[in-house]
Amino acid sequence: MPTPCFARKILPALLCALAAAAGVADAAPTISRLTPPSNPLSADAVTLARFLPGQRFDLQATVRPDAGQTISSVEFKVDGVSVGTISGNGVVGNKSLLPATAITATVPNAVAASLRAYSTQSVGVHTLTAVATQSDGSVVSRDGNFEVVGIVANNGRPAKNIIIMLGDGMGAAHRTAARIMAKGYAQGKAQGRLAMDTFPYTGMVMTASLDSIVTDSAPGMANYVTGNKAQNNQEGVFPDDTTDAFDNPRVEYLSEYLHRNRNTALGIVTTADVFDATPAANAVHTSNRGNGTGIVDQFLDDRKLTGLTVLMGGGRKWFLPNASNSTNPQATNGSQRKTSTDYVLPDDLVAGWGASKGKLDAGRDLIADFQSAGYTYAPDKSALDAAGVPDKLLGLFTFSNMNVALDKINARRGVSTVVNDYGFPDQPMLDEMTDKALKVLNKNNANGFVLMVEGASIDKQAHLMDSDRWILETIEFDRAIQKAKDFATANPDTLVIVTADHECAGAAIIGAYTGTGASKSNVATYEAAKFPKYTINADGYPQTTDIAGKMLIGYGANADRYETWQAYPQPAQDSQQPFVGAAPLNTYPVNAAARTGNGFLISGQVSGEQAVHTATDIPLSAYGRGASLFTGVFDNTDVFFKLGQIAIGGAK
Ligand SMILES: [Zn+2]
Repeated sequence: MPTPCFARKILPALLCALAAAAGVADAAPTISRLTPPSNPLSADAVTLARFLPGQRFDLQATVRPDAGQTISSVEFKVDGVSVGTISGNGVVGNKSLLPATAITATVPNAVAASLRAYSTQSVGVHTLTAVATQSDGSVVSRDGNFEVVGIVANNGRPAKNIIIMLGDGMGAAHRTAARIMAKGYAQGKAQGRLAMDTFPYTGMVMTASLDSIVTDSAPGMANYVTGNKAQNNQEGVFPDDTTDAFDNPRVEYLSEYLHRNRNTALGIVTTADVFDATPAANAVHTSNRGNGTGIVDQFLDDRKLTGLTVLMGGGRKWFLPNASNSTNPQATNGSQRKTSTDYVLPDDLVAGWGASKGKLDAGRDLIADFQSAGYTYAPDKSALDAAGVPDKLLGLFTFSNMNVALDKINARRGVSTVVNDYGFPDQPMLDEMTDKALKVLNKNNANGFVLMVEGASIDKQAHLMDSDRWILETIEFDRAIQKAKDFATANPDTLVIVTADHECAGAAIIGAYTGTGASKSNVATYEAAKFPKYTINADGYPQTTDIAGKMLIGYGANADRYETWQAYPQPAQDSQQPFVGAAPLNTYPVNAAARTGNGFLISGQVSGEQAVHTATDIPLSAYGRGASLFTGVFDNTDVFFKLGQIAIGGAK
C-alpha cells in the first residue's frame, strides 16, 4: 500500500515532507480496502479476482478520513473511465456511502463506499481505481485490478444441465475406502468400480480459500460456483469492514448467472441441514455461514435470482415459526429461528441486485411460505414418494443434519433405533433424493438446470473419526452419483462433476484388523492386511462392517479419540440438533474422546474435539458434456470458468 504522502495527489510534495518531518499527524484520507480483492504486489493474472463476461459483482472501498474531516465522494474507475461516483452519505440507487457507525473498530471512523452489481463484457485484465475526496479537498486514490475471462463461442454444444456432486470432505482415501468396502479386491485388483471411478476424466483440485491454505466448506463450495476466493466462513461475498453479515460485497453465483442469462432452474440436495455451508454457498450471500434464519429465508426470498426449484435435506428447525419472536428463547417446537441470525439488506444492494429486502421475522412460518410459492412439501420419505413429480419441491426430513447412511440403513433393516431417537424414523437415502430431484428438475426443463447434491456427512463423520460411518456415507454418495450418471447418459447435454470442497481429517487406510482387542498391535500392515472381504446386501450396503480382517483407518489431522476398531452402535452427538441436551440424544457420546469403553486413547495432533480439514488437493472426476476439460491440476476457482465455458460457449 502506498504511504499517505505518496498517495496524496493535490498537496505539494514539499508540504507533505515538511509535515512528516515536523511530526504532524498525517493529513490524508486512506483507502484501507478495495474490493474485489487483488494482489497489488503481483502482476500475475492468476492472483486476480476473475469473472465471466457480464457476471455481476460489487465494487467497494473502505475509506478513512482525517480527524475532523468527512468523505465527500468516492469515484470508481475501470481502466481510467468512471463507472460511478458516490457523493454524500446514504443510498442512491445501487450506490451507497455507509456511515462510520456501521464499520468495525478495526478501521475507526471509516466509511464504506459501494457500487452494487457492476459487470462488464470486456474480456481481459482491467485496472480498478477508487478515488476518494474528503471535505477539505484532499484526495486519495488506490488501484486494484480484476480480470474478465473470455468464453470461446460456438465451441461445440453447450451443456444444458450441470450436476455438481459434492462429497464434503471427500479426499482420495475416502474414495478408496468406499471402493474397498463396496467392491472388494482380489489378487491386487479391485473387483468392481465405484460410479465415480467410471467417469472418464479426473483432475486434482487445489482447495485454498482467500485467507487460508485450509478452507472450510463455505469457500470450498463458493469458489467453484463464483470463480472467486471467498474468506473462511463466507459464501457468495467478498470480505468487508462492516459488522452486518448480509451487506458484504456480492459476487454472482453460477446459479444466478445462468438463471439470468438462460433461465435455468436450481436444485439443492444435501444430507446436511440445508442452511449448512455447502448448500447455502450455491444461492445465499453472507459473511457468516452460521446465520441460519436469514440463510433459509434467502433461499425462498431470492428464488427469482437463482431459479430455486428443488431444496431437500435436513434443517426444519430453521423453517418452523418461533412464536417467541421478540426475546428469542428456545422454541418448544424445535424452531431455532432468531432475529439475531436473520437478515435485512441495505437498499443499494436491493436496488443493484433486485434482491429481496428481507425482514427480521423469527415468527415466520417458512414452510407455509414455500407452499404458498408453489412448492410441494415432503416431511419424510413416504411423502416424498407420494408427491409424484411436482413443479417445485421442498423436502425437510429432520430438524437439522439428517441421520447418516449406517443408521438409516440399520433402521430399514430393523437393527437400530438411532433414527427413532432423533424423532425421524422415515428418512430417504441420498440416491432416492437425487432421483426425485432430477425428475422434478427435468419436468419443465426447456432451459436446463444446475443441481448440487452434497454427501455432507462424509465430512461430519470424518471430523468425528467415525470411520465406519463415513465410509458408508461415501457409499451412499456414490449411489447418488450413479443416479446422476444415469441421467447424463439418457440426457447427453448434461455435465456431471464429482468432487469435494476439501479433504477432511487426513484420513488414510492403514491396514486391517488382526482379530480381537483394541490397540496398535491389532493393526495388520502391508501383506498381513490382505484383502478385507465385506458381504454386500441387496440394499447396496455391507451386512456389517465388523468383519474379520476389516479395513482400518488412521487420521493425520486428528483430535484425541478412543478407538475400538469396531463400529459404534451410536453416532456421536450432533450439537446442531435442537433437542440434543434431552433424552435420548443426551445419552449419546459427546465426541470421539468420550468413547472410553474398552478402546485405547489415541492422542491427537490438534486441540479440540474433532479432526480438522486439511489443505491436501482433492480429486475431481467428470462425465458427460465438456468433461474433457477437467484434467491436470487446477484451482477450485478454475472450475467455475470451465463450467461457464461448457454451459455458455459449449465444449467439443
Ligand atoms: Zn468439515
